[in-house]
Amino acid sequence: MTEADSHSHQHNHNDCIASALAIAEAKCTEQGQRLTKVRRRALELIWESHRPLGAYQLLAKLVEEGFNSAPPTVYRALDFLLEAGLIHKVESMNAYLGCTQADKNHTGYFLICQDCHDVLEFDYQDIHSSLENKAAAHGFELRSETIELTGRCASCKDS
Ligand SMILES: [Zn+2]
Ligand SMILES: [Zn+2]
Ligand SMILES: [Zn+2]
Repeated sequence: MTEADSHSHQHNHNDCIASALAIAEAKCTEQGQRLTKVRRRALELIWESHRPLGAYQLLAKLVEEGFNSAPPTVYRALDFLLEAGLIHKVESMNAYLGCTQADKNHTGYFLICQDCHDVLEFDYQDIHSSLENKAAAHGFELRSETIELTGRCASCKDS
């Protein structure tokens, strides 16, 4: 599917990719880490759209491009990108999504379109605080939150 086919891509997606890569470079430099060729390409491939990409799809693409991409290499690259906060794992889809606010400290929640499979990330500090407080009331230390909402995105709803 090309960009033009995707009705939800009425924005200039090249800007999304350029901005994601610039943030990635800056973050890696700041943390004294290297955005190696395979890490960078993995991030670019994940950012090809706003649809999460599965590890095996990513692996297939990298192999196609001639990367020496044994599964562990790909999983290590994914782990690096996750740790660096550059991508998120969308649990219900078992796939990876480029983070749209990687330069901010945030918790990503996701709106998943069941028609086009685009995923929109949003941050909601109030929800985060409420969950943290509720968990704490049970003496529970919260480490991660998975909030994935399903439905239809604005463009699918209107078409
Ligand atoms: Zn975009
Ligand atoms: Zn995010
Ligand atoms: Zn949609």
